[in-house]
Amino acid sequence: MGLNKQSFWYAFTHAKCPHCHHGDMFINKNPYVLKNMSEMHQNCSVCGISFFPETGFYWGSMYMSYVITVFFSAVNVVLIGIFSHWNLYALVIGNAVMLAVGFPLFFRYARVLWLQINMPFNPELFKKLEA
Ligand SMILES: [Zn+2]
Repeated sequence: MGLNKQSFWYAFTHAKCPHCHHGDMFINKNPYVLKNMSEMHQNCSVCGISFFPETGFYWGSMYMSYVITVFFSAVNVVLIGIFSHWNLYALVIGNAVMLAVGFPLFFRYARVLWLQINMPFNPELFKKLEA
């Protein structure tokens, strides 16, 4: 089952340019290569739109990071709590491990989400690029 390339979810999950859904946002597709985890293209390689619309633009992605982290922590704590009968050590250690392992993904998808929210999709450009 493939996602429709015009959908928000396709661009979000594949970290594609929110404007054209074709160009990659990040230089390395693997977020677990920590050396260059945060390195992004300055502009979309397909449509040329800037991924850095203003100085300090990605400070706003901290809000997205907070939302993502709290959501996954809440789900994780409930699941660990149910299976460990609410053992405090299991909750703290289990959540710390989840946060450490998930950090590269949370960081990356916070940026993707922030750019998606602030940059509208251009369906005409998408259709022109698909043709
Ligand atoms: Zn683009």
